[in-house]
Amino acid sequence: MRLILFAFLFALLGFVYPCKLHAQKDKPFTVVLDAGHGGKDPGNRGNNYFEKKIALNIALKTGALLKKEKGVKVVYTRTSDRYITLNGRANIANKAKADLFVSIHCDAHNSNAYGAGTFVLGLHRNTDNFRIAQKENAVIFLEEDYEKEYDGFDPNNPESVISLVLMQEDYLNQSIEAANYIQQSFVKNLKRKNRTVKQAGFLVLRNTYMPSVLVETGFLTNSKEGAYLNSKRGQNEISRSIANAIMKYKSSLDGTLFTGLVMDDAPKQSTSSSQTTSPSFIYRIQIAASTKKIETKSYNFKGLSPITRIKKGSLYRYYYGSFSSYKTAESAVKKAKAKGYRGAYVKAFKNAKEVSITPEMKSE
Ligand SMILES: [Zn+2]
Repeated sequence: MRLILFAFLFALLGFVYPCKLHAQKDKPFTVVLDAGHGGKDPGNRGNNYFEKKIALNIALKTGALLKKEKGVKVVYTRTSDRYITLNGRANIANKAKADLFVSIHCDAHNSNAYGAGTFVLGLHRNTDNFRIAQKENAVIFLEEDYEKEYDGFDPNNPESVISLVLMQEDYLNQSIEAANYIQQSFVKNLKRKNRTVKQAGFLVLRNTYMPSVLVETGFLTNSKEGAYLNSKRGQNEISRSIANAIMKYKSSLDGTLFTGLVMDDAPKQSTSSSQTTSPSFIYRIQIAASTKKIETKSYNFKGLSPITRIKKGSLYRYYYGSFSSYKTAESAVKKAKAKGYRGAYVKAFKNAKEVSITPEMKSE
């Protein structure tokens, strides 16, 4: 009798376990779109435009495009003119167990500055980056308990940035990677002036447990750019660019080939068609190989995430990260080595197949 029970249990386990794995594989890629500001916080009012309105339009339009894609789940921090605290935004993303957090904003400056920039959380000292973070962080003054809520952080003091706890550190490489896709998309598809990917102390990115970026889509204070950002055409183009970049980032993670957004206005010439047709290389860091099948959870790999497992012959190979440039991958090797994976090295993939690394790929 006992034997039968055991046999039954094993059969049950064998049945349940693959199902669980399968469910995990089918988990949608969840992206949180965070429209900056809202409600009593209008954001910047360059040329009398409302940053909060433009940011919301872009977030909603980006989400509408992404919802048409397979395997993508969209979560918004707000879908109306509503005030949410910075920590409240991070909480929404954490609760959704999102794979990517994208905060959408518009910049302002007293010069004629223009162009789009994408940011990740970091402590690099730079007065221009500090100015932008200061502006976006200032919203905490609208919160009653801001001193307690943000551990005494003072948005107006550059030194105060140091007190930011870098929970985001584990996700820095992936955040930079996602930011690069967005920035490339702006520059290549929309021919926007490139203000590049930068690091600064953005509070909204501090408490999220996932790769997180903040996009400054352009300057409302610049008359030409402000009008563009406030227009339907501008918002459509920017949204398409962001959605396109997010899909590229997603496919770099799961090793699939992304050939362009599913769009309802298909006959129209896509602004991104030229760029999306050529598949590029993906770099991953091989950290281990084993006959054992190990779950790709970060706690099984000294906190490294994401981990990809690929079976070749009787061996399972385990890879950390997924990067579009060899250089970023190289810096991730250092991180893997620091975590104890001394033999970590870069491998290149094209269309999910391993390929050898050429000198051209290294210099790209
Ligand atoms: Zn803003």
